[in-house]
Formats: sequence, C-alpha cells, structure tokens
Amino acid sequence: MTRRGLLIILSSPSGAGKSTLAKRLRAWDPEIRFSVSATTRAARPGEVDGQDYHFVDEDAFKRMVHDRQMLEHAHVFGNFYGSPLGPVEAAIEAGQDVLFDIDWQGAQQIQKSPLASSVLSVFLLPPSIIELRRRLESRGQDSAEVIAKRMNRSWDEISHWDGYNYVLVNDDLDATEEKLKTIVTAERLRASQQPGLVDHVRHLQSEFEGHE
Ligand code: ADP
Ligand code: 5GP
Repeated sequence: MTRRGLLIILSSPSGAGKSTLAKRLRAWDPEIRFSVSATTRAARPGEVDGQDYHFVDEDAFKRMVHDRQMLEHAHVFGNFYGSPLGPVEAAIEAGQDVLFDIDWQGAQQIQKSPLASSVLSVFLLPPSIIELRRRLESRGQDSAEVIAKRMNRSWDEISHWDGYNYVLVNDDLDATEEKLKTIVTAERLRASQQPGLVDHVRHLQSEFEGHE
C-alpha cells in the first residue's frame, strides 16, 4: 500500500544534537532522504560538498531563490541557508521521507507551504544551557568566537520551541533516538499519509457486500 512521504523537520539551538540524531535516524532507516541545504558559509573540516551541504557563493544562492528553486531559505549566523525544492518534491512523490536540519525560520516557511500537510516537525531542547555550551565546545569544530555567536543566538532559536509538533529534551542520546523513531513510526500511519487506504476500504466494502 502506498504512503505519502513525510517532511521531517529537526530544529534546535546549535549544539543540541540535530545532526547527531539525523545521522542515527538515517542509519535506522536508510530510505529516509536527507535534504542537502545550499549555504554560503565555508565548509568545516570533514564536511563534503553535495553531502553535508551544497557550498555555493552568494550570487548562486540568490539566483536559486530568484528562480524559485528553494522550498525555504533564511539568513543564519551571517550566512544564507536554503532547502532546494526539486529533490524534496521527487522524494515525496516516490513515497520517501525527507529529513531537514534547519532553523525555525525555515520550519515556519515549510509549515506554510503547499507541502504543510505532510510536515512532522520536532524541536530539540538541551537539558541545560551549561550542557549546550559543553556540547558546542566538545564538538571541537568552531572557534571561541563562533561558539560565542552560536550561544548568543541560542535563545532566539529556543524561543520558537512551541511552533513544533513535538518537543524532545535531548538529555540521554539513546532515549531521544528511541523517542524520535517512535514519533516517525506513528506519523507515517496518519490517515492523510496513506492515500492507498481509500482503495483498500473500497475493496473491503465490495468484499463485505459480497457476503451479504
Ligand atoms: P547540532 O547539529 O544541533 O548543532 P550536534 O549533533 O553536532 O548538534 O551535537 C553537538 C555535540 O553534542 C556533538 O559533539 C554530539 O556528539 C554531542 N551530543 C549530541 N547529543 C548529545 C547527548 N544527548 N548527550 C551528550 N552529547 C551529545
Ligand atoms: P551550521 O552552520 O551549524 O551547519 O547550521 C547553522 C544553522 O542553520 C542550524 O540551526 C541549521 O539547522 C540551520 N540550517 C542549515 N541548513 C538550513 C536551511 O537550508 N534552511 C534553514 N532555514 N536553516 C538551515
């Protein structure tokens, strides 16, 4: 029976665990597609172009926005970020889920888009601000200046927590992963995500009437 793909949006303040949980979710179900965002920020060590992000210059980014190739886009930490529309539409039509690691501005735009009915949005909160800072520092990818910038912006992100379908406090990583998998499993069963149900029920009806 066919199902419609979900747009699974993960947001949180930087360092709360989005990319870690996104990786775990895709390891659990490799059929889940990751929406590779375009960004004007420089690649971090270890990041692969086309896999983690499409690293583009500002002109190329603005052209994509102008040509309506972005499902959503935002300005974050002084750089542009956006989700290319084409791969999302292709995946949804093929009944595949698409995972987004994006901020609240992008989540809001997708929740107002024509694809809104297939959105599953999840916000991750850190157990404490001290732990959030510890995680940003332990990741070892950013300078002290960049960490300070991200910490300053974390309250802005946290303040949008109630615009999401689900909110998880990412304290124990394994426990959060289990909750996320449970949510995805349940949301795939929403009646509106299963267009094949109409035919199935029609078939049940004809069987039922044959028995009368
Ligand atoms: P984000 O993508 O939200 O910026 P990351 O997934 O990169 O955050 O996580 C930041 C750091 O915190 C990483 O080093 C990651 O391994 C660690 N981390 C993530 N979740 C937890 C957790 N529940 N407990 C402890 N450390 C965590
Ligand atoms: P980072 O630079 O740490 O990879 O990402 C910084 C912030 O930008 C994170 O909150 C991340 O979720 C957000 N982000 C990444 N890609 C996109 C995108 O395509 N759109 C929006 N709106 N935010 C994004």
